Amino acid sequence: IKSKLPNISTTIFSVMSQLANEHQAINLAQGFPDFNADSELISRLNFYSTQNYNQYAPMTGVEKLRILLSEKYSSIYQSDYDFQNEINITSGASQAIFNIISTLIHPNDEVIIFEPAYDLYQPTVELFGGKIVSIQLKYPEYSIDFEELKQKINDKTKLIIVNNPNNPTGRILSENDLKQFEQILKDSNCYLLADEVYEHITFDGKSHQSFAKLKSVKDKVFIVGSFGKLFHITGWKIGYILAEKELMKEFRKCHQFNTFSTHTPSQYAIADYLENSDHYLHLNDFFQQKRDLFVDGLKSTNFEILSSEGTYFISANYSKISDLSDDEFAKELTINHKVATIPISAFYHDKTDHNIVRFCFAKKDETLLMAIENLKNL
Ligand code: PMP
Ligand code: GLN
Repeated sequence: IKSKLPNISTTIFSVMSQLANEHQAINLAQGFPDFNADSELISRLNFYSTQNYNQYAPMTGVEKLRILLSEKYSSIYQSDYDFQNEINITSGASQAIFNIISTLIHPNDEVIIFEPAYDLYQPTVELFGGKIVSIQLKYPEYSIDFEELKQKINDKTKLIIVNNPNNPTGRILSENDLKQFEQILKDSNCYLLADEVYEHITFDGKSHQSFAKLKSVKDKVFIVGSFGKLFHITGWKIGYILAEKELMKEFRKCHQFNTFSTHTPSQYAIADYLENSDHYLHLNDFFQQKRDLFVDGLKSTNFEILSSEGTYFISANYSKISDLSDDEFAKELTINHKVATIPISAFYHDKTDHNIVRFCFAKKDETLLMAIENLKNL
């Protein structure tokens, strides 16, 4: 078979989780909680499965869930997304992102990404014949150089992909950053995909600045979210997209032939839970406690910790510990010290190595403390 992705191998998340399993290492690599979701949510899923909500959901998603999302976005971000024409439920944020790219990208279109970048964007753009134009976030603050962004936009630029809060850097955008993007969108013909799956995980009193707030460029922005991150259910693979109706019309043309619809009982269960629980309003405090616990522990190791303002990830430089490449170091750490991490070079198209690994702290406190014990020996 002639590969469509000749330079791509198995995603680092699968590689590191498999290695962690093989060596019984603590898995702080792939981003998922090691604790269960709220039993209330699980019992709603049982309820809908046993009550025979087991056939196809509407292609657009279960109506109640779309209505609740519309209300959530208008109450939090004062935005105005019509549940009929501007919201769609997807099989995880991944499928939403894949489908947005398949909807928009023609051969030779350029797509701007900021690196380090979540590993899904580049291969998907390339599958549809698009060309990646990467901008490096300025290490170690990982800030955006807006002048460079403006210079890189030209007639071929079709899409800018922004992940905020950012995986893997933990950086969040300010209100001023959003204003700059707003002006750039007004001055150009390109669209923007806002991957906001960690919108409810921000720390130190800083609030998430959603692109859903930018009403003047609503017709150019796709917003993507994930209930996996919101309710500790990454395995359910339920996400969503918000987009102005003309954009959504095109999105749905592709989506209907991509998966058609998404797991039915999960959508009903999530809708009930979203309606009756304020769970997500407490996520910031919940994860900030874990970040602080983990950072405190890391201080007793030889890792140099980078800051994390959001997401459930934190990165650290290991130059004082080892001369190995980050790939090799992550393997060594998993096999010999029983802690699995993600080497940050996996998030660069040219595998730039800053001697940094990413830890996921969406874990039980006892798991984090056990990992710290192992890391102290380095
Ligand atoms: N975007 C980012 C930045 C992510 O970290 C993830 C993590 N899974 C996704 C998208 C995909 O979300 P989902 O699991 O809902 O497909
Ligand atoms: N988003 C998760 C992470 O960054 C992993 C998702 C996946 O395994 N594809 O770790």
